[in-house]
Amino acid sequence: MTASASGAGDPPWVLDLEGTGVSALPRVRAWAGKSLGHLSPDHLADVLMVVEELASNAYEHTSGPSCARLTVLPRPCVVVIEVEDPEHGRPEVRPPDFERARGRGMLLVDRLADDWGVHEHSGGKTVWARLGCGVPARESCESSR
Ligand SMILES: [Zn+2]
Repeated sequence: MTASASGAGDPPWVLDLEGTGVSALPRVRAWAGKSLGHLSPDHLADVLMVVEELASNAYEHTSGPSCARLTVLPRPCVVVIEVEDPEHGRPEVRPPDFERARGRGMLLVDRLADDWGVHEHSGGKTVWARLGCGVPARESCESSR
């Protein structure tokens, strides 16, 4: 395991985002990249886009995310991304025309993720997305490097 020396800790990786603003997005991306540095570049690139979109959505449509969490399931290689925020309500998947300012939004998540959804709980909601990388079961993409 390479994560412990990087300061990102052990899985599942959790980043506290309480009180942060949209300027924290590069930090969210850097944290995810560091935590998941063992994934193949293709898988990591998709995961980073989704992490950034989910966090960006939370900054834009709620009072901001409270935390982000990453879980890696190795066989087959699947990453679960979760972003929590303190508000209820489902993010909308809107046609690109209506996503003027920030581009692709949940439509991008919908396209990249194998599956995604919203889990509402008393403290708000968790928006999650699951991204596999299509490597055969019994292997993780880290072994293909
Ligand atoms: Zn993978």
